[in-house]
Amino acid sequence: MDARELLERCGVSATENRLLVLRALSGADHPQTSQTPQTPLELLAQLSGRMNRVTLYRILDLLVERGVAARHNAGERAFRYCLGQGVAGHSHFHCTRCGQTQCLDSRLLEPGLSRILSGLPMRVEMAEVTLGGVCEGCLNA
Ligand SMILES: [Zn+2]
Ligand SMILES: [Zn+2]
Repeated sequence: MDARELLERCGVSATENRLLVLRALSGADHPQTSQTPQTPLELLAQLSGRMNRVTLYRILDLLVERGVAARHNAGERAFRYCLGQGVAGHSHFHCTRCGQTQCLDSRLLEPGLSRILSGLPMRVEMAEVTLGGVCEGCLNA
């Protein structure tokens, strides 16, 4: 699915700026960071002057609200953003040694989480699973 389709499926019209943000989130310009949730500052650096901060924040809020992107707090001052769909569709791994956070493919978690969520009386709009430990890079260092 391309970026335009993804936006439209979530009821967001695909403006040029939104497509730029989506592209930055997907790490298309920097393949090596594709698995890492990014702070707004890192996204701004990727957008290299093509967008101001206010516009970026507004778009990020919209993308999170529509479930296109996930916002998550790794215990730092800034939130980090990454692409992620669905309430239960996303989880992270945080390395306690180097401090890096990676996005995990959490499709395996989803069935169990969905079952838990559907049994709750409240409407859950976000669920965040963060695993902690030592990452592959640090294990091999
Ligand atoms: Zn590590
Ligand atoms: Zn993520």
